[in-house]
Amino acid sequence: MPDQNRDDDLHIKRIKRLQTEIADSRRMGLAVRFMHMSALSPSSRPSHVARHGKLFTGEEMLEWWATSDNSKGCRCSFAMVPVTANGRTLVPGLLTRAKAMLKKYKQQHP
Ligand SMILES: [Zn+2]
Repeated sequence: MPDQNRDDDLHIKRIKRLQTEIADSRRMGLAVRFMHMSALSPSSRPSHVARHGKLFTGEEMLEWWATSDNSKGCRCSFAMVPVTANGRTLVPGLLTRAKAMLKKYKQQHP
């Protein structure tokens, strides 16, 4: 299968999962954000890497992937993160780990 088809397939699955998780969190009345996860590969775009470990609303994630060519060849993912009413994460360890990964990546790809 050509890479382009595989990328499109990956993107369709990713958006479907994001929409499902947004709907699930609403139905359960959970306050959540989505942590952006870059593949942190040598070919990752700096604008994608810059989002690694940051929290966004589901709508912000959907909008970002729908913007210009952000979804093209993109291997980024996301993780649903429960937050307090004022948007503070309830799983700080996850963000700490993501930030450490990003720091290491930046040292290896200056
Ligand atoms: Zn990406």
